Formats: sequence, structure tokens, C-alpha cells
Amino acid sequence: MLDQSNAKIDLIEGLDKIKEELVNSKSVPGESEEIFERLANNLQISLFKTTLDGAILYVNDYTWKAFEFDSKDEFYANNVLTIYNNKDDRKLFIEKLKEFSEVKFFETELVTKTGKIKNMEVSAVLVGDVISGMAVDVTDAKKAKENIENSLSILHSTLESTTDGILVVNKNGKVESFNQNFLKMWNIPASIAKTEDDTSLVNFVLNQLSKPEDFLKKVKYLYTHPEEDSFDILEFKDGRAFERYSHPQKQDEKIIGRVWSFRDNTERKTTNKKLNENKLKYKTLFDTANDAIFLMKEDRFIDCNSKTLEMFGCSQEEIIGKTPSRFSPTRQPDGSNSEEKVLELINKALSGTPMFFEWKHCKLDGTLFDAEVSLNMFEVNNEIMIQAIVRDITDRKRSELLQDAVYKISQAANAALDLNHLYTEIHKTISGFINARNFYIALYNPEQNLLSFPYFVDEFDEKPAPKRPGRGLTEYVIRLGKPLLVDPETFEKLTESGEVEKVLTDSIDWLGVPLKTAGKTIGALVVQSYTEQIRYTDQDTEFLSFVSDQTAMAIERSQVEEELIKAKNKAEEMNQLKTTFLANMSHELRTPMVGILGYTEILKREVTDPELKEMSGEIFESATRLLSTLNLILDLSNIEADKSEIKMTEINFTDVTVNQIKSFEQMAKEKNLYLKTVISDEQTIALLDERIFRQIINNLVSNAIKFTDKGGVTVEVDKQLIKNKGKAILRVTDTGIGIPKDSQQLIFEEFRQVSEGFNRGFEGSGLGLCITEKFVKLMDGEISVDSVLGEGSTFTVCFPLFKKEKETGDTKVPIEDVESVIQEKKMSMENEKLPAVLLVEDDLSNVGVIKYLLDGICNLDTAKTGKKALEMTSNKQYKAILMDIDLGEGMSGIETTKEIRKLKGYENLPIIAVTALAMKGQRELFLAEGCSHYISKPFDTKIFLSLVQKVLSNGKPSD
Ligand code: ADP
Repeated sequence: MLDQSNAKIDLIEGLDKIKEELVNSKSVPGESEEIFERLANNLQISLFKTTLDGAILYVNDYTWKAFEFDSKDEFYANNVLTIYNNKDDRKLFIEKLKEFSEVKFFETELVTKTGKIKNMEVSAVLVGDVISGMAVDVTDAKKAKENIENSLSILHSTLESTTDGILVVNKNGKVESFNQNFLKMWNIPASIAKTEDDTSLVNFVLNQLSKPEDFLKKVKYLYTHPEEDSFDILEFKDGRAFERYSHPQKQDEKIIGRVWSFRDNTERKTTNKKLNENKLKYKTLFDTANDAIFLMKEDRFIDCNSKTLEMFGCSQEEIIGKTPSRFSPTRQPDGSNSEEKVLELINKALSGTPMFFEWKHCKLDGTLFDAEVSLNMFEVNNEIMIQAIVRDITDRKRSELLQDAVYKISQAANAALDLNHLYTEIHKTISGFINARNFYIALYNPEQNLLSFPYFVDEFDEKPAPKRPGRGLTEYVIRLGKPLLVDPETFEKLTESGEVEKVLTDSIDWLGVPLKTAGKTIGALVVQSYTEQIRYTDQDTEFLSFVSDQTAMAIERSQVEEELIKAKNKAEEMNQLKTTFLANMSHELRTPMVGILGYTEILKREVTDPELKEMSGEIFESATRLLSTLNLILDLSNIEADKSEIKMTEINFTDVTVNQIKSFEQMAKEKNLYLKTVISDEQTIALLDERIFRQIINNLVSNAIKFTDKGGVTVEVDKQLIKNKGKAILRVTDTGIGIPKDSQQLIFEEFRQVSEGFNRGFEGSGLGLCITEKFVKLMDGEISVDSVLGEGSTFTVCFPLFKKEKETGDTKVPIEDVESVIQEKKMSMENEKLPAVLLVEDDLSNVGVIKYLLDGICNLDTAKTGKKALEMTSNKQYKAILMDIDLGEGMSGIETTKEIRKLKGYENLPIIAVTALAMKGQRELFLAEGCSHYISKPFDTKIFLSLVQKVLSNGKPSD
């Protein structure tokens, strides 16, 4: 700007000089005037002459034209003030002129005739009151200046607003410009920055760099190659890193310097480093993973790791671009079409549902394998892809299947009804894994040295019979104790070596594994094929070996079980035999007892000779003892056979006890012993089987009397309430010999007595207490003994009290004084008026006894057989029938009863079963089969007579 202004002054001054010279030159008058005019008019600046008042004296053509006047005259007609935009400017201009006679570069705005504003720079001189001057239109220049300033300010702000450091150096190495960031990034103090010398800057920064020589080399290179761009990374000693760019600075294609920019990329570098590390990490993971990992776009493979290639047995080129169905069999195990299923699964994954499923894949060569596949959709750069992970689960699947097989076999062993069933199940299970069309199980019994084939399924051969082991393959495997896979070649070798010889039809492959339990080979499992299509592999051998242990165990267990079942059946059979035997024995022993007891009782009464009377008394006692032993044995066998049917009813514990011990009064008396009862409560109700309870009292009281010589026996009935639970207690205390401590438990065992062996001091079977204890437990009770040797014993039995104790009397019909009844009857009735009774009995001694007993009570007819009885009942109406049940040959008592019941007048007639068949349940049986009453033989004569009497008088029996 400065230069331009000087030029203008020079120009004005020059113009004046030209005009002066022209005037002073000796040219034609007016001519020089004209030259000046022309010159002035061609100038592109405005020349003028005005008065101080503004009257226009002169303007060149440029002026009036520039101010858009039509002619010079038109312009002249105006006062110059009219073209001033701001009238005060004119005032100021005049003042300045007046003061200095000269004004240079007075800037003002002038207006054209059409109103356009022009920026003018006016210079003038004042001579007198005439102002001569020139004005230059600087409108454009001003605009340009403004533009430049604006650009510079933008440039400056840009430089300062960028995060990069910027440095501009001219081609001579002088620093032209830089921004604050540049200083900050390089830690350059203002003092150095001021030097504007690139070299000192370079030296300052060199110290900070880890490779200063590279830095310098590059700078030097660029000084010699000013036209080149550059980019490099500067690494700092403190770990920072700058990216350095440079670009030549050009002016009109001429290189005048270089602009350097620096960017701190320390962070980016670290991030990149991390990214690279991560990338490496994932790449390693991808490549070393034990699963096949691959990427798919739609249903095509686009990338895969090396495991994928290994798993699918192919090269990268063979898989990329292919679809998963290329590596799948046509159909999946569930029958679905692989290709369709692949698409379905992929589409589901693409819709965002992660898929996880099992899949049958195949390698490039077609080998099948089981896989577990997961498909996940993901998006990279707006592209949707599927990541698939495939895990080969063939081994796992196989071991699962094997475990399943083993489990099935062991289940079969548990559930098998018999060995055959088990063998079939084993065959079925094995067929699920290998071809077992021809399959057999061979078992070797070393005791019998026999090889048997309990299971044998074969296309060609029949099941062989058990045989002595020979030189067959089966025997070889059993001998060897190892699995053996024999193909024709191996077979030939084995036969050549003499190890085996041909036994049955030649097979192609023969695979046998030993059946071992506890290290012992018990047989072999064998599969064989007769066709080239079915060949066995090592894997099959492995499988068969795997299941063989379980199979051997299952077979052995089932064998043992079968033997156990056989043994159990045998034992049950024996037990049944025993029960039948006992029933028969019972009958056979009881029947003669009627004769013995009946006749001795008669003898006792009838015989008058004292010696004979005593003898008959002893016979009677011995027989009674025999009968009680017999009863005990039967009781025990009944309990053991669980046939002791118990009928629990509410009984008055006190009354039954008091009543039962009455029968021991005589016995005690004979031994000079007291027999006391102590009763704490009359109303003690318990839920018991009365018959069994009476038996318990009998056993305890009879023992107490038996083992006591002085003093006596006290029977105590007590009641106790402990924690709301009541107990009915029976205590039998004696002052007898007592029981040593160490024998107190033993006496409850079968056949055990305190004094045993030949020198035992007391008679007895040793069964009483054992049965008593069993009876007590059967009815939920407890028994205990407390005894001091030489002082006496107390046996305590307690039962749960019946909760709803209520007033009950003894339901038992008291046995009446039979003797008096008999006497009464005998006296009151004439023989012919007596009721007719038929006795059906095959045992003559029994007939004799009964006849004697019933003499005077009824008219007794007898029939030895059922047939005879039928005959007699058909012809005569009896009042009652006494029916023996076991009538020897011919009809039984029951059959006879059934027939009699069909006869008119006999439908409801009392038929008393008088029988030695006294096993439990028989009473109920006979009553159900038609008998109305039952009395077991041998019977108590009093009870027998009482029953007959009641029946004849239509009363209820008391049996
Ligand atoms: P048994 O009396 O027929 O021998 P038990 O089973 O009734 O059989 O009794 C077993 C044994 O217990 C008796 O032989 C006897 O040694 C002993 N014993 C039982 N009761 C008494 C008692 N009240 N006093 C002493 N000893 C007894």
C-alpha cells in the first residue's frame, strides 16, 4: 500500500512538471495545452480543479465519466459538494488544505450521479483559493485489502484452532509462521520461537527425539527436494510419537517454502498397538481353537480357521464359497433333508436367534461325524454375517451311547424275568451299535467242563448243544481271555498254527470278546458276518469289549438270581411240605389222644382199685402233658408259617386273667403253693386275641408253679399311664428257683432251658417262653423278666391299653358245671325220649369215648363213613350230627356235610365238626363249608358236653 501511494504522489508531481514544461516549451500557443488535455483525459485517475467554494473549474474526461455524468458541462454545472457522500468530509478536506496547503491521500466516499459509492483517495494542493488535485478510485483496492485481511484472519484462526502443530519455513530456512500448538507440542520457549531461525528450532527439538539422525536426514533431504511431500513418524524419548507431514509452499507455481504439520498420535499409537495385540490374540485363538470356527455370508463359507480344514478334511479352497450342506449327508438322523434344514437354521440365526443344535456332518471324503453347532449372527461394517462354531462330538456321542448300552444291559439284568429274556435284551442293545445279525453268547462251566450256547442267533447254523470245549474260535477267545477280530486271513493263520480249527459255517469276519467277571472268563460274546458288506473294525471290537464286562456281570447276576429263585421256590415247597406234614401230624397225633385222654378219664372215674386209679391218673397226666407239648409245637409252627391268625377284640384284661388262673388252683394246691391275684383296676381293657392271651397266661403261670417249691405265685394285673399312653400289665411273680442273669435272655429262644443236657432238673420242651414272646410281640406287647437266683422270678407282660375303655363284662359264657348238667339230664330224661344224634367217626376208640360221654344225653347212632352217614340221614331225622372231618378213605366229613345239607330237614341242622384238624384257619374253613359248630380233638370233656348240651337245647355254642 505504501509503495502504491508514493507512486500516486509521484504521478501528481510528475503531471504538474509535464504541464509546466509543456507551457514553458516553445511550442505553438495552445498546442501544449491540447497535449496536456489529451494526456490528462487518457489517465485512469481523476484530475480536478475547484474553488474553495466547490465551483468546478476543471476535470478530465475520466472524472465526469466515472461519476456517470453525460457530459463535461453537466458535471461542471454542479458544485463539487454534491458528489460528497459525507458533506463533513469536504469541510475537513478544506480545513486541512487551508492549514497545510497540501493534502495527501485524503480518503472519502464520493457518489456517482446514479448513487454508486466510490472510495476515493484524494491528493490536492491549494493555491490561492484554487484547489488542484487528483483522486484515485480505491474502491476495488479497498475491497481487495479487506478480503486479504479477512483471509489472513481466517488463516490465523484456522492455524490456531487446529490440534496439529504448524510451522511455515521459507526456502531459505527462515521461519515464516507457526501456531501456538506447534510451540506447545515441541515445548519451544518463546525466546527460540522469536529467532525465526529454523536451524535453532531444529537443534532444540533434536534432543527430544529418540532417532534425531533420521529426523535431520529427512529435513536435509527435503531442502534438496523442495517439491516433495513428506510423511513420517517421529518417536520421542519419552514415548510420545508425532506424525509429521510437510508440503511445499508455492506461489504461482514457484516454491517459496514448506509447511510442516505435526500431529501427536501417541494415543493412537498405543490404541493401535493394543488393537494389534488383540487382533493377534484373537487370530491365535481363532487359529488354534479346537473347534471349527468359520464365517458365513448367507449360507456360504467365507473364512475359516485351520481346525475347520482338519475337521472337514479339506483345503481352504475346497471349503470357501461352499455351503454347509456340501459337508452334510443328504439326510439328518431325524430324517430331515440336510439342505433344507441348513437354510432353515441359518435363516433363524440371521433373524437374530442364536442357534445351538446337534448335526450330522461329513468330511469331504464322506466320513460322517457327529457335531454340536452354534450359529450366531453379527454385523461388521453394515454387513450381516454368521459365525459358526462346530465341535466334533463323535467321541462324546459314542461314549454316551456306550454308557447307554451298558445302562440298558444292567437295566435288562434288573428287569429280566429270566436269563433268556436278558440274552434277548443284550442282543437288542448290541444290535443298536454294531451289526449283530449273527450273534451268540457262549458260557463255559469249568466244573462240568462244558461249553454251552444259551443264546444263539445265526443265519446258517443251528444252536449247538452243550459240548466239551474243542478248538473253535470261541474256545480260543475264552482261553486267551482277550478280544479277537478274525478275518479270513487271520483265520487261515490261526488254523495253520493249529490254534483253532473250523467248527461251523465259515464267516467273513468273526468278532469275539471274553465275558469276564472278577478276572474270571465265564464265556464269550460273539458277532459274525457272512457277507463282504459287513466288516467289523477295531472300533467294533472296542465297543463289544466295553459292553462285555457289564454283560458278564449281568449274566452272572441273573444266573445267581435264577438260582436264588430256584432255591426260594424249593424252600417254599419244603415249607409247604412242612405245613402239610404238621397238619397231618397234628391230625394223626390228636386223634389217638382223644382215645387216650377220653378212656383214661373214664378209667379214672370208673376204676375203684386204688392202684389202678393212680395208674390211670398218671396216664391221664402224661397224656395231658404230651398234648400240651403238641399244642406248643403246633403254635410255634403256625407263628413261623405266619398262619397264626389273630383276632383282636376288646377284652377285659382283668377278668380274663382272673378267669384263666382259676384252672391253676388245683396245680398250686397239689404243690402246696399259694396262688394269689392282685388287681389294681377291674376295668382294664386291651385289644387282644383272647385265646392267645389265655395261652400266654397259661405258659407263664404254669412255669411259675413248675419252678417253685415253696412260697407261691402272685399274678398281678396293673395299669399304667405314661405320656398319655396306657399299658395293661400282667405280672407273674414266683418265689421259685430264679434264673441266673446270663440265662435271662436265652430262655426266650427255641428249645432253650436254664438246665440243659442229661442232668436237667426239669421237664419241658423249652418252647413255652419262645412262643410266649412271639405271641406277645404279635399283639404289639412287650415281655421282660426280672429274676434273682434262688429267690424267684417276675415275668412282666404289657400291652397297649384300649383307648375307649368301657364297661364290659366277660363275654365268655362261663362253663357250667357240666357234671351237674349231665346228672340232671340223665335223671330227667327217659332214654327213648332223648334226642337222636348221629356221630360220624371212623376211629373206634373215639366212637367209644363219645358214646360213653353222651350216654344218657342223647340217642347216639354212629356211621363209620360218609356214605353210611348219608344213608342214615336220608332215613332218619337227627337233632344234631357230630362230624369227624378226616374219615379216612371215601368221602370226607366236609363232603358228607355238604351232601347232608342238601337233604330236607338238614338245611339248618346243627352239624358239629369234631376233628383233630386243628391247624389255624381250619375251624373257619369247616364253618364256611357247612358245619355249624367246631370242637377240636382231643377236647376237654366238660367243654364237649357243654357244647352238645347247648346245641341240643338250641342254645349258642361256647366251644
Ligand atoms: P420249658 O418250661 O418247657 O422248659 P420255657 O420256654 O417255658 O420252656 O422255659 C424255658 C426255661 O426258662 C425253663 O426251662 C427254665 O429253665 C426257665 N424258666 C422259665 N420260667 C421260669 C421261672 N418262673 N422260674 C425259673 N426258671 C424259669
